[in-house]
Amino acid sequence: MPDPVVVTFLGGLGEIGRNCACIEVDGRIMLLDVGLMFPDIDMLGIDLVLPDFTYLRENAGRIDGCIATHGHEDHVGGLSFLLRDLSFPIYGSALTLGLARHRIDEAGLLDRTELVPVRDGERRRIGAFDVEFIPVTHSVPHGFATAFHTPQGTILHTGDFKLDLTPVDGRLTDLARIGAIAKDTGIRLLLSDSTNADEPGHARSEKAVGKVLYDLFHAHEGRRIVIACFASHIHRVQQIIDAALAFDRTVATLGMSMKKNVRLARSMGLLHVPDTKLVDIEDVGDLDPSRVCVISTGSQGEPMSALSLMASSDNRWIKIGPEDTVILSSHPIPGNEANVSKVIDGMTRLGAEVVHSGIDDVHATGHAKQEELKTLLSIAQPEWFTPVHGEYRHLTSHARLARLMGVPDERVLVCEDGDQLLLTDNGVTRGQKVPAGYLYVDGIVGDVGQGVLRDRRVLAEEGVVVVVVTVDAQSGAIITGPEIITRGWVYAPEAEDLLDECADEVRKAVQAAFDGDVPVDIETLQRHVRKAAGKFVSDRTRRRPMIVPVVMEA
Ligand SMILES: [Zn+2]
Ligand SMILES: [Zn+2]
Repeated sequence: MPDPVVVTFLGGLGEIGRNCACIEVDGRIMLLDVGLMFPDIDMLGIDLVLPDFTYLRENAGRIDGCIATHGHEDHVGGLSFLLRDLSFPIYGSALTLGLARHRIDEAGLLDRTELVPVRDGERRRIGAFDVEFIPVTHSVPHGFATAFHTPQGTILHTGDFKLDLTPVDGRLTDLARIGAIAKDTGIRLLLSDSTNADEPGHARSEKAVGKVLYDLFHAHEGRRIVIACFASHIHRVQQIIDAALAFDRTVATLGMSMKKNVRLARSMGLLHVPDTKLVDIEDVGDLDPSRVCVISTGSQGEPMSALSLMASSDNRWIKIGPEDTVILSSHPIPGNEANVSKVIDGMTRLGAEVVHSGIDDVHATGHAKQEELKTLLSIAQPEWFTPVHGEYRHLTSHARLARLMGVPDERVLVCEDGDQLLLTDNGVTRGQKVPAGYLYVDGIVGDVGQGVLRDRRVLAEEGVVVVVVTVDAQSGAIITGPEIITRGWVYAPEAEDLLDECADEVRKAVQAAFDGDVPVDIETLQRHVRKAAGKFVSDRTRRRPMIVPVVMEA
């Protein structure tokens, strides 16, 4: 009997972001994406969140590589962190690798990381793995679904996908190939994108957005147009450029990632704009505003992005005014609504006309909706089904669709981060749990634990009170202090009396400790100081700032 084939989910099941899974065949591991997640607002000071790498570190010797399904940050953004400790080749389309390499390069890891481009439809042996790369349509070009042909049957992972029947580049999701695999060997286990499993109907074709953009450019002739979208959405950028060129506008990009990605896509022949129609943002001022189209980052209202800075009149190059039309060719990702609405408000205050997805159909999702998910299920005819890529409610909605499409109830397995599935001759069963907590990154170091976050929350909400006192423990005398220093508890200049009273309370407590029967050490004194100060602060202000006692020996 062959060894079980093991699927381990390290991220992306229960949240949108930090997608990461392992497929194990013959004891060897192939990673499927290593993504990152952007933090919630309550994760104070956190730059990004990664999958828990414990399982990968413990099994480092068994890792043969990583397949990057497509170039979005929630799929490749974690690689530069994992590659610091481990080394393995990365397989993906040339564009995916091009997008992924920016961060790997920034981390200085490019020379020891092998990037292996694979072609549409290619089937390749990588050690113990027999992998097939199947084209899918999505909001970044050249994404793949991945078929693992294993001794326990074929596992099909859809990657992020939609069924766009008229994609901008004509590269369709290869449903015919998926159907052929289903007929030929059958699909043992289907892992499918659940992002839009709650949404009825079909996702609109990306091409439909092109028509809307053309009409908008027509309606806003004579005005400067500033338009924001995701920098990796090369097809959207192309459609914006097409509309701009149709109305004889010159295009400038704004924002680092937009500039980089446009350069990358042009160098690969995936984005078409004549040199004469592309200018540097520095030179936009020299042109007739009605002949200009600025394509900007910041469509999610990211606070430091080009678009947000424009909305608060802080952008170096572009000053927004009543002659401008600003188009947000995007839809806010859950959690970003407030930031996006702040940008819209700022632009409106500056007199600009703002067009967004709430007003016009200037965006199409990159993820399959219910009818597309059902279509895929009916073509793949999987024996077993596990929804991936979604919050818990998306996963359960997708599970419901699978049952509706005839997958038996007991063969629909809803999993979460840290879950393992074993494929054996007896079916697909649940394995052990592996660590799958959040790995918080602040700066370049991933050592921010729950304790640090808790401290930051207290500091942010209640402030800090530092009590400094110098003593001579031998003679039992206070030499200097106590001095009370605070940030965020009370406004010090106006609360001097309060600070003096607090110092008095602490002094009494220290003296009382010295006057006791037993000799006291510094640690005990610190405990007394913390207690006295904490009680005073709470009694007098009903607040609970962090109390930091600093007791020094003279
Ligand atoms: Zn994704
Ligand atoms: Zn994606």
